[in-house]
Amino acid sequence: MNKTDELIALGKQYVMNTYGRLNLVLAQGQGARVWDLEGKEYLDFLAGIAVNALGHSHPAVVEALKKQAEKLIHCSNLYWIEPQIRLAQLLVENSCGDKVFFCNSGAEANEGAIKLARKYAKLHYGPEKYEIITAINSFHGRTLAAITATGQPKYQKGFEPLVPGFKHVPYNDLQALAEAIGPQTCAIMLEPIQGEGGVVTPDPAYLSGVAQLCREHGLLLILDEVQTGIGRTGKLFAYEHFGIEPDIFTLAKGLGGGVPIGAIVAKEEVAAAFQPGDHASTFGGNPLVCAAALATLNIILEEGFLAQVQVKGEYLRSLLAEMGPVRGKGLMLGLELPGPGAEVVARCQERGLLINCTAGNVLRFVPPLIVNEAEIQEAVRILRDCMK
Ligand SMILES: *Cc1c(COP(=O)(O)O)cnc(C)c1O
Repeated sequence: MNKTDELIALGKQYVMNTYGRLNLVLAQGQGARVWDLEGKEYLDFLAGIAVNALGHSHPAVVEALKKQAEKLIHCSNLYWIEPQIRLAQLLVENSCGDKVFFCNSGAEANEGAIKLARKYAKLHYGPEKYEIITAINSFHGRTLAAITATGQPKYQKGFEPLVPGFKHVPYNDLQALAEAIGPQTCAIMLEPIQGEGGVVTPDPAYLSGVAQLCREHGLLLILDEVQTGIGRTGKLFAYEHFGIEPDIFTLAKGLGGGVPIGAIVAKEEVAAAFQPGDHASTFGGNPLVCAAALATLNIILEEGFLAQVQVKGEYLRSLLAEMGPVRGKGLMLGLELPGPGAEVVARCQERGLLINCTAGNVLRFVPPLIVNEAEIQEAVRILRDCMK
C-alpha cells in the first residue's frame, strides 16, 4: 500500500461517508498547480470549486494570514474587529450594497439572507408575507433552509419535513415566475448563473425582468453569488453583467482566497431589519479569515485584474467551443457533453488535469483567476486527448 491508499483507508474508517470522493490526496499547491501525496503534478481547473481565486498559496494571502495569526486569530463579535470592518467597507465601496454580515460558508450566508428577507417582510408588510420563490435546478447549500431553497429533490430526500414557505419555478422563465408570485411572496432568490445546476446562464433580459417583477410586487431580490461573486465571471459580482442591483446578495467561495468565510451584503433599508440579537455567528468575520479575504479582494480589485479574467475567460471559451456547446461567463465555464462526464473527469485526472462534472453531463471549469494562457492551453490539450 502506498501512502495515499493507507490514508484513504484511515479516512474511510474515521470520516463520515458523505462525499463521493476520488482516490486522490492533495498535499501541496502553488498557483494553478497542485501535487498529490505521491508527488504527481496536476493543473487545478477546479480550484476547490471556485474557492482558490488567487490559486494556491498566493504570497499576499499567506503573508496576511501569517501576520494576522501572530497578532490576533480570533475574538468575539461582542467586540469590534478591525479586519472585519475594513473588509465590509471594501465590499460596500465596490458593490450596490450598504451593510455586510459575515459568516462561515455559502449555506450559512443564504440561511441568513432568508432570515433577513423574512424579518424585513414581517416589519414592512406583516406576518402573512413570508414565502420565497427560488429556481428549479438551483443550489443554495446544505442547511435545512438552504436545501429547501435548493430546487433539486436529490438534496432534500430523507431530510423531510422541509422548511415551510418556499416555492420553485423553472429558471430563466419570467412568465412562470410572474404566475407564482402571490400576496404571501416576500422574496425571489436566484443564482445569476446556476453553478451546480450545470453552469446555466440565463437570457440577457431574464434577471432585469425578475428585478422589475420584484419592484412591481414589493419583493426583495436575493442573488446567491456564492459561486459567481468575487471576480469569477469577469466582473466583481455577476449582477453587474445584467444591469440590475439585488437587495441582498450572498458571497462565500472565492471571498477568502481559500479560508472559510461567507457574507450577506444588503441595501441599508433591508439590512436595518436586523437588530442586535437577531442574527449572529461565533466565528463569522473573525480577524484571521477577514485578513485573508482583505488580501484576496485587494488583488482582485487591482487595476486590470478583472479585465484579464475576461480575456482569459474568452480564450478558454474559444478553445472549449471547438469541443461542444459552452456556457457561463468569465472563468466560470461549462462544456456540455452528449453523455455522462464522469469518465472524462477521471481520464483528465489520470493525465494531470483536475476538473469536475455537474448536472451529469456538464464539465465545469473554474480555474484560479490567476491562471495564465499557457496553463489554459495545457489544460485544453489534456482535455482534448481525454475526450477522444
Ligand atoms: C457552493 C454553493 C453554495 C454552498 O456553499 P457552502 O460554502 O458549501 O455552504 C451555495 N450557493 C451556491 C451558488 C454555491 O455554488
